[in-house]
Amino acid sequence: MDEATIRLLLFLGIFASMAAFELVLPRRDLTLGRGRRWLTNLAIVATDTAVLRIVFPMAAVGIALWASENGIGLFPWLELSFWLAALLGFVLLDFAVWAEHWASHKIPLLWRIHKMHHVDRDIDVTTALRFHPLEILISMAWKAAVVVAFGIPVVAVLVFEVVLNGAAMFNHANVKLPGWLDRGLRLLVVTPDMHRVHHSVIRRETDSNYGFNLSIWDRLFRTYVDQPRDGHAGMTIGLAEYQTPEPAGYLWSLALPFRRPPARAEGKGVADASVKADREIA
Ligand SMILES: [Zn+2]
Ligand SMILES: [Zn+2]
Repeated sequence: MDEATIRLLLFLGIFASMAAFELVLPRRDLTLGRGRRWLTNLAIVATDTAVLRIVFPMAAVGIALWASENGIGLFPWLELSFWLAALLGFVLLDFAVWAEHWASHKIPLLWRIHKMHHVDRDIDVTTALRFHPLEILISMAWKAAVVVAFGIPVVAVLVFEVVLNGAAMFNHANVKLPGWLDRGLRLLVVTPDMHRVHHSVIRRETDSNYGFNLSIWDRLFRTYVDQPRDGHAGMTIGLAEYQTPEPAGYLWSLALPFRRPPARAEGKGVADASVKADREIA
């Protein structure tokens, strides 16, 4: 089996396991449900895969292979041992992805693209697949730059990509883990309860917990929020300015970065008002 087949099988296996887990032990009731939302989120990941293939035929692993064949990067230059380079490379890539995510919330142009991820009215395994094709391209270029600059070993890049993909499906899953398990896992990795805080409509919570895999970066950079203010069952998911059925649409979602945004709910007040309005409707 080639790399692409192994990765596809792993993806399908983790996706099916998380989807089954969500049916058995759901954390919250879904606001918009599956139906059209799932179709859209799955169509988005299919689009992303196609766009990525066309623009970056090599992807991160191919670029790592090219760099290693040519002895490019800091690690080969320092003559680090394979295992040290692989371990450092994995952690560095994880930090690079964390930093990119943080920047996506701070730089208005990147936020326009990234908010397509946040506008999902629910958070479940398919939300992990819901990234704008432009964000996927920016992210691949950024990872490729890090891989080449440091000369990260091919195996570390391959393992990182597979783990990142699996971790995202795990921490977006609408599943209820026992408290002791969540607390234990959180010491090392991002759990579903930890990432759910990031999908809250409350700005302070949206701008927290940027990690997708290792949980250390948010603690280190003081962007860690332990629990949502309104609890996991009571919190509102999505963006305060888009509490409508539209985010479940495929074309609407892809066009989102190019549409004039309504005033972003700045600060707590607006988001809270929207949460209240939502509750009153419900
Ligand atoms: Zn985000
Ligand atoms: Zn997310």
